Amino acid sequence: MAYPYLTIDLSKIQHNARTIVNLCRSHDIEVTGVTKATCGNPDVAMAMLRGGVSSIGESRMENIHRLKAAGIQTSFMLLRVPPLSGVEEVVKTVDLSLNSELSVLRALSQAAQGSGHKHDVILMVELGDLREGIPPEDLLEFMREASELPNIRIKGLGTNLACFGGVVPNEGHMNRLAGLAKEVEEKLGLQLPLISGLNSSGLELIGSKEMSGKINHARIGEAILLGRETIHRRPWPGTYQDAFLLHAEILELKKKPSMPIVERGEDAFGGLPTFKDDGDIERALLNVGREDVTVEGLTPLDSGVTILGGSSGYLVVDVSRAKGSYRVGEELSFLLNYSALLRASTSEYVKKRPVNEMLPKES
Ligand SMILES: *Cc1c(COP(=O)(O)O)cnc(C)c1O
Repeated sequence: MAYPYLTIDLSKIQHNARTIVNLCRSHDIEVTGVTKATCGNPDVAMAMLRGGVSSIGESRMENIHRLKAAGIQTSFMLLRVPPLSGVEEVVKTVDLSLNSELSVLRALSQAAQGSGHKHDVILMVELGDLREGIPPEDLLEFMREASELPNIRIKGLGTNLACFGGVVPNEGHMNRLAGLAKEVEEKLGLQLPLISGLNSSGLELIGSKEMSGKINHARIGEAILLGRETIHRRPWPGTYQDAFLLHAEILELKKKPSMPIVERGEDAFGGLPTFKDDGDIERALLNVGREDVTVEGLTPLDSGVTILGGSSGYLVVDVSRAKGSYRVGEELSFLLNYSALLRASTSEYVKKRPVNEMLPKES
């Protein structure tokens, strides 16, 4: 296969999903598997479903269409709040969406009536991360109006933490969400079956004794894909961190100075690179670059290889102390962080290669 390409070990993703689902299940928490960092890759969704997730969450309609076209049969949750301009497509395509605007809910209601659909929603509450969500003080009034909209079924409350503001979720946030749900249920006589409080940043909270038992739904992407919780990015016990590997080809391999010799200006991306003088080093040029991947999010599989930097089409690495010996035309492989994975998934230049497709059946 032409380089660069991304291998996707589906058995590792299935295993990671199973590990996270089992953890959550033991605390009565249902898991929606989030495929957005793979641009809605159908093989990845299948692996997650085999691993026991109960539905698939995505942030983009294009990805949901891709999954459906590939024959993935499950319920789909739209994680990014729907655009006012796209409500018809949303009610026709997804089973449930996360929401925070009444005008959008009204439009969803109209579209659902028009096409004869019922549309399920989870209302998002702002608990401090300052991305999507209804301020808690507005929630009751919001709910009162939303609950009267025809063809809209309010399934529950949710919150999202860590992703934007880096707010570390704690028991206080979860108890606040559970308390708000209880208040809504009591004051408005509604039933809220889903309380969706967690993403991969909340894994450590799940076992906590102070955590409200009312939280019963999690939307998990990174912990399944990359095997890490997202507060400290620590490997999660019993999961693989290398389900995805990026492979690139060595285009040039030469001994050159570690420091540029003349006066320098900005690099191609407006940065002023810094260099350490190590004398002459063995430098390899690879055929993957900033257009395809977040260079800072790559870790060479060969621990003796050091990434020196990248431009749009090249990655430059120091292989002087490499464990392996390399030649032009051979490959180097890299682990990816979330940002690098997202970019590699989005780049049409990076081919995707699922591996271990023949899996033993899991019970
Ligand atoms: C992306 C996303 C998730 C998944 O987050 P991870 O950190 O990958 O687990 C969950 N909820 C919402 C609303 C999201 O946008």
